[in-house]
Amino acid sequence: MFVDQTSLLLALGFAAFALSATLFVTWLAARTERFILIWAVGAGTLMAAFAGFSINAVSNNYVLLWGSNMLLTGGFVVLFSAACLFTERKLPRARIVAVATASAALVTIPFLLGFDALGAIMGNLVNAALLIGTAWEFWRGRSEAPLWVNGIAALYGVTALSFIPCAIMIYLKGPLVLQAPPSGWAEDLNSIMGLVGVTGIGALSLALNQARIARQHRDEANTDPLTGLLNRRAVFERFGATSLGKDTAVLIFDLDHFKSINDKHGHAAGDEALRRFASVLSQRVPPRSAAARIGGEEFLLVVTDTDRDLALAIAEAVRSDFACEILQGPQGGFRGTVSAGLSTGEHHLDTFDNILRRADDALYKAKNSGRNRVSSAAAGGR
Ligand code: GH3
Ligand code: MG
Ligand code: MG
Repeated sequence: MFVDQTSLLLALGFAAFALSATLFVTWLAARTERFILIWAVGAGTLMAAFAGFSINAVSNNYVLLWGSNMLLTGGFVVLFSAACLFTERKLPRARIVAVATASAALVTIPFLLGFDALGAIMGNLVNAALLIGTAWEFWRGRSEAPLWVNGIAALYGVTALSFIPCAIMIYLKGPLVLQAPPSGWAEDLNSIMGLVGVTGIGALSLALNQARIARQHRDEANTDPLTGLLNRRAVFERFGATSLGKDTAVLIFDLDHFKSINDKHGHAAGDEALRRFASVLSQRVPPRSAAARIGGEEFLLVVTDTDRDLALAIAEAVRSDFACEILQGPQGGFRGTVSAGLSTGEHHLDTFDNILRRADDALYKAKNSGRNRVSSAAAGGR
């Protein structure tokens, strides 16, 4: 082999240190993502393990070999935890404690019995299992950023596989007691895969974190903070420049006499009424539709793959649902109503602006004919 085992292990140690430090500084800069900190701790633990293995490669110490195996497995448990936190958004504590206990027991018991080769074999197999588990966790969360996440999962998977020849080679040399520190082509391949894994996963993880931050900013820029619906800018960005056909309906909802709700019950009760209406509206939003708050007490629903009757039924359901809601003010419950205007595309090249204008005219009609009703642009008042 053109590089010796100790040099490879040292290189791995330095790579893990660089990754740990980079992740830690990244976490310091934006302390929102705890999985970055856990990653940093995991990479730091791996660094300690590689240092232990490289010393053991020249000194061959029983306790050091056990300790290095434990640190390596421990580091992989921490990386597995970070992956769970990344995908599931919270730490599955019971699962992690079970995985950590089982891993520590499988590696430690053979060493306690005096079987260091068996301990090293178990260590390699446990590490392979932990890395496969980590790859699986990432793969489950691949929809977030498929390119980065699939890349990370693949690197974890390939690194996991490289532990298996190590276990086989130790087994073939004598499955219970080591004659010398594990070495040979399988160990070298495993170290090289580790180097590729540490550097590749490090780079992809940082890219993934950036992608997540960018998406969070984009989501915030498109969301109405009071109701959690899309905001005006988002809905106009999505539909503003497209031509829409007869199968697209635009509905504008405007709460009735909302100013007097604010005047009578206070601004906070007004805000609560807006949130309640948003919740009523959300429950009636068909798939592939977009609901947005486009002004103070004005909401927009764009329904695709529909027809006028269906859209009218949706608007009517929202109107009557909201009329049944008991809204809360400081002096007790009260009711509110909403008016709506509806229009669909008139031909296959109709513009969003035109449909919106006709829906707005229809809303005006609904307001003028008594409120708490739905008015349709073509069919006239209803
Ligand atoms: P109409 O039935 O004709 O729609 O009458 P209206 O009182 O609902 O309409 P108007 O446009 O006169 O009043 C809208 C009110 O909505 C005025 C404004 O103070 C209130 N408003 C706008 N944004 C918010 C908000 O975020 N929270 C609260 N509580 N009130 C808001
Ligand atoms: Mg209004
Ligand atoms: Mg109003």
